[in-house]
Amino acid sequence: MERHEYDVIVIGAGGAGLRAAIEARMQGKRTAIISKSLFGKAHTVMAEGGCAASMGNVNPNDNWMVHYRDTMRGGKFLNNWRMAELHAKEAPDRVWELETYGALFDRTKDGKISQRNFGGHTYPRLAHVGDRTGLEMIRTLQQKVVSLQQEDYRETGDYEANIRVFHETTITELFKADGKIAGCFGYYRSTGKFVRFDAPAIVLATGGVGKSYQVTSNSWEYTGDGHALALRAGATLINMEFLQFHPTGMVWPPSVKGILVTESVRGDGGVLRNSEGERFMFNYVPDVFKDQYATTEEEGDRWYTDADNNRRPPELLPRDEVARAINSEVKAGRGSPHGGVFLDIASRLSPEEIQKRLPSMYHQFKELADVDITKEPMEVGPTCHYVMGGVEVEPDTTMSTVPGLFAAGEVAGGMHGSNRLGGNSLSDLLVFGRRAGMGAAEYVDGLAGVRPAVRIDDVAAAEQRALLPFSSATEGGENPFVVQLELQKTMNDLVGIIRKADEMEMALKKLEDIATRTRTVSVVGHREFNPGWHLALDLRNMLLVSLCVAKAALERQESRGGHTRDDYPAMDSDWRHVLLVLSALGEDNVELVRKEQVAMRPELLDLFELDELKKYYTGEELGGHRAGSA
Ligand code: FAD
Repeated sequence: MERHEYDVIVIGAGGAGLRAAIEARMQGKRTAIISKSLFGKAHTVMAEGGCAASMGNVNPNDNWMVHYRDTMRGGKFLNNWRMAELHAKEAPDRVWELETYGALFDRTKDGKISQRNFGGHTYPRLAHVGDRTGLEMIRTLQQKVVSLQQEDYRETGDYEANIRVFHETTITELFKADGKIAGCFGYYRSTGKFVRFDAPAIVLATGGVGKSYQVTSNSWEYTGDGHALALRAGATLINMEFLQFHPTGMVWPPSVKGILVTESVRGDGGVLRNSEGERFMFNYVPDVFKDQYATTEEEGDRWYTDADNNRRPPELLPRDEVARAINSEVKAGRGSPHGGVFLDIASRLSPEEIQKRLPSMYHQFKELADVDITKEPMEVGPTCHYVMGGVEVEPDTTMSTVPGLFAAGEVAGGMHGSNRLGGNSLSDLLVFGRRAGMGAAEYVDGLAGVRPAVRIDDVAAAEQRALLPFSSATEGGENPFVVQLELQKTMNDLVGIIRKADEMEMALKKLEDIATRTRTVSVVGHREFNPGWHLALDLRNMLLVSLCVAKAALERQESRGGHTRDDYPAMDSDWRHVLLVLSALGEDNVELVRKEQVAMRPELLDLFELDELKKYYTGEELGGHRAGSA
């Protein structure tokens, strides 16, 4: 079996993985980047709206404290406050740093990096490149990797001496020795050949879990591999009940259902209407946000040109609020012909402006739905988009509870609490990608050359497990595509945007059955590019992650952010400080325990008015606030 040795392995070549790998290499560590998709095709490339950083270029009142407050409000104060603090403080430097690597963001008239409005952000804050920001980010980070390789070539004569990319390579197992990370195992998708990597530090940067749902903006890679790899290695996951259903996915035609319609459409003035032509979001502003959102269309419209003297339109409420509102309108019979609502930009901007600001959206609707968004409204509805839950990490280093295992980007949990603000993911990737690279490098230094050795038995077991779907064929196991569909439908219908105890209990029963079927799925053919085999291996991860979501969602008896309970519709302060922590229990079961969230540092708590905190905190907790203790 092919074998490689590195100091640091980064699994995932999206924004978080690339930034982590660049940092590890710059800290002098021999680094490998492994990606199951082609190099350049990660989710990050699909990011449209932009990257949130309080540079204050468009509104000088912006700063890290305002960004911090917005992020905590968006997450309904369940965020890991230290992560939110690091993120808000470091995001501007990470964006500027990207320009030193060669990125070019859109500009203001006076030549600064331009910033746009997005839901939940007080000021225009998203650095962007039209609606193709992720593409620019990935292009730039890849370019930086190549420039580091050129540097290495000049010094060693080998481009890959210190940083190498293994693309179309899927990792299926992590190895540990003496309780610490020792390496990982995977296969090349094109040939099916196995490959083993030995390394004392691994950074998981594998993205999200959306493929466990039937309607999703996520593409095929999002099968929760990193979440499951971490669990199986003994690490813990948190916040798995919180999934973001983006309010605006395409609803028609069926073949493209779920594909994202960027929030920039609303950030640039787009409005939501029901079948009666009403701008219904004015009816859905929750009490906790009443002071910050306009009550009339006139005020909402004025905000686009005078944000200092008007309140924001409710179309720009955090995503969880807008998704629930759309769901309610459709349920009340005021939906669009194909089961969504109308998103109208045509009556708000000129055709030229729409094509300039939203070129991808224009083409997406023209090509996929034969709708000209400069003339007609779009039909949109909620789509499973982002997982707030993920690997529990130490905020400053991103190390998980397993020594040597790090996680950054969407696979990590905590930063976004119960709901992520749009634009806060791209900045999260840069901030925590860099921190993961640094954390991994420091960890390797701390080992002082004593590296855990991969056990040969573990390698043999990994190989055997990967081949299992071929041997199941002779015993008549099921087709993995059939089992996957059932899993996706179960999660969509029973643990979806609005949840009920009896439905989630039913989901857990179904998942038990799906677990049995997953163990024996069978595939035919060869190991050379065999999608059925790839899915059979991914399915194991999708199942484990779905179990985590369903178990945690059943346990949390309140509604908060990306978790809405029909039977517990209110947010409950007693749940705000409770984290649901999941760990693996055997091959396909998980255990859940409750854990207290660490209290926010007093000077950070003081950034909020007491009256606002009272909406989220228990009276007892507020004793530490300067005004609360007075
Ligand atoms: P990704 O970029 O998804 O990278 C994951 C990597 O892991 C890939 O290279 C994949 O191949 C690899 N991988 C996965 N499993 C394995 C395995 N087993 N072995 C090897 N490799 C593996 N956020 C914003 O902040 N602003 C936006 O405007 C925005 N727009 C979005 C638009 C769309 C359509 C979508 C879907 C998301 C958007 N998001 C946005 C969210 C954001 O893009 C993602 O959260 C973010 O890009 C995730 O980055 P990542 O580095 O964590 O993972």
